[in-house]
Amino acid sequence: MERQFPRLIVHEKRFQQNVEAAMARCREMGIAVCGVIKGCHALPPIARIMRQYGTSSLGTSRLEQVKRCRDAGIEGPYWLIRIPAMSELPDVVSLCEVSLQSDLTTIKALEQECAKQNKSHSVIVMADLGDLREGFWDKDEMVAACVAIERTMPYLHLLGIGVNLSCYGSVRPTVEKMNDLVAIAQRIESEIGRPLEVVSGGATSSFTLVHNRTMPKGINNLRMGELFLVNLPTSWGVTDMDYMRTDAFTLQAEVIEIREKPSHPQGELCIDAFGRKPTYVDIGVRKRVLLAMGRADVGDMDNLIPRDEGITVVGGSSDHCILDVTDCKRDLKVGDIVEFSLLYGHLLFLTSREDVNIIYDANNN
Ligand SMILES: *Cc1c(COP(=O)(O)O)cnc(C)c1O
Repeated sequence: MERQFPRLIVHEKRFQQNVEAAMARCREMGIAVCGVIKGCHALPPIARIMRQYGTSSLGTSRLEQVKRCRDAGIEGPYWLIRIPAMSELPDVVSLCEVSLQSDLTTIKALEQECAKQNKSHSVIVMADLGDLREGFWDKDEMVAACVAIERTMPYLHLLGIGVNLSCYGSVRPTVEKMNDLVAIAQRIESEIGRPLEVVSGGATSSFTLVHNRTMPKGINNLRMGELFLVNLPTSWGVTDMDYMRTDAFTLQAEVIEIREKPSHPQGELCIDAFGRKPTYVDIGVRKRVLLAMGRADVGDMDNLIPRDEGITVVGGSSDHCILDVTDCKRDLKVGDIVEFSLLYGHLLFLTSREDVNIIYDANNN
């Protein structure tokens, strides 16, 4: 049995155009890109396009996804971009060419695992420059760890260093932060007496500096997924990125009820399906649509982007989505399809469910 809806359409040409447009700008600034595939559950056709149209490696936080793409015949090199757990090291060595690292205990164990498998492996050592997720906080300790890798771990190759910003601490990638990373790279290079091949300045949020052409010279790599998939979030303040499309993916869901109902619940209010106490605004009787799709499919629903004008997402629960369609020109009926553009989180959920129907559209621009 295959469900028809919700349906996720992957517009391969549009996606390819996004990869090409962003890569052209990166190339101009001397920046290689690791194409990050965790936001789309490493769907092989998407990974293939990223690799084919200019990214020099593929990265994900999950080893199963590396395996999935390797099995589909997509060439790496593959980067593990979440700091590995000790329990993952055998698979890190066998599946990935590169991993991000921030803990000397793990790095030493990785060297031993490499020796066991008689396989070499490259590492990017991470600096925490204020976002407070992964990375060395004490930069002397970081330099010492890099020197230790270079001098005492024959199976590991110190490929370079990196930083991640804006993910936890919402810290903005700035020229200053990038220069801080470049300064650390220079310290390490003078200690080990050779240049580092990779200085990786972050994820999609750091692309703002490529877009503005202010990225400092010493940064030569970014690790990006979101930019290619759904564009740069508007909250980053970039509003003139007309070379990127936001419709590379279309979500379709089916109408299962349409009815005029009050906008404020009636009765004594307690908690919703997720244990929260939402507030409801009474704007009178409205025309409402129920879709056969819910938070289990897309995560948060309030920020879904309806393609029709005059539709707003009111809310819903794990398997239902409620729309206010009072101002919509289309005369919606049960059985009709409503379309949405997506943000990163929606794509993350949709692609990791087995019962969402994923269709590849290779033709339309
Ligand atoms: C997820 C992640 C990325 C890519 O993030 P995007 O916002 O999709 O570009 C890069 N680096 C690390 C360490 C990550 O965890």
